[in-house]
Amino acid sequence: MRFKDLSQLKRPEPLTITIGNLPQHILMAKYAKDKAFKISELVGVFFEKSFEWYGFTLANNDHPELIVDIGLPENDLNLQDHTHLGSQRIAEFQESLPEDVMINGWIHSHGALNYRHFSHTDEENHRTVLDFVAARTRKPLVKKEIVIRDLVLLEKDRFVEKDLGMGSVSLITDGPITEARIMETIFGSFCYSIVIGDEGWHHQEIHYRERGILSSHTTVMSQAAKIEFVDTGRSLSQDDISALSDEVKQKIKPHNDPPPELIERM
Ligand SMILES: [Zn+2]
Repeated sequence: MRFKDLSQLKRPEPLTITIGNLPQHILMAKYAKDKAFKISELVGVFFEKSFEWYGFTLANNDHPELIVDIGLPENDLNLQDHTHLGSQRIAEFQESLPEDVMINGWIHSHGALNYRHFSHTDEENHRTVLDFVAARTRKPLVKKEIVIRDLVLLEKDRFVEKDLGMGSVSLITDGPITEARIMETIFGSFCYSIVIGDEGWHHQEIHYRERGILSSHTTVMSQAAKIEFVDTGRSLSQDDISALSDEVKQKIKPHNDPPPELIERM
């Protein structure tokens, strides 16, 4: 093949077609927000000194982008376990949930500290939670062309073994063709990360993962995100609060003599 001029050597941009989007800001039911701050308040009441707790943000399967509730796992404040949120722990909690409820992120408190951003340890936890929830928040985002150099087109029943030795990828079709484009689906997943403080502040990020189904090309990124509080018609009732009190008493176990590492993990 001869090129008429060098410009023909420039490869065209791969064809990319958007078919879906991941959330760019966080949707949270007012009920879930009130519950989160109520947990902090109850922790302060029961244990006098407020400290960190963590929980999971929950959504209904049919609307993964809306946080409708907060799930409180056992917070034993065991340094190893709490510092590094393990996937085993997340899986156990997911299993305890009704079938139509899913984890879409995590939330934790920095207590009375005015440390309004995520720590290095928090960053590690974001990744663990994202890895776990990725399968459930996954959706097709983009169809993207995989540009293949030396794509060889072969016809079913009409090629010989030697033909397979040619090119980098062989496409075998049931009829004669002269051109083919291969488009892979890029799937995207997300998880939410929220940190709150006793004074009523909150800071949050969305973490994303995108992966090509054929190329396995994976990108992970995150961004600070705005949060929109949504009135879902549910509010924190007195019954909710008393049930939550029992839950906090049962699930949150204070660490009375925290070693210095406990402070650092904030
Ligand atoms: Zn933290």
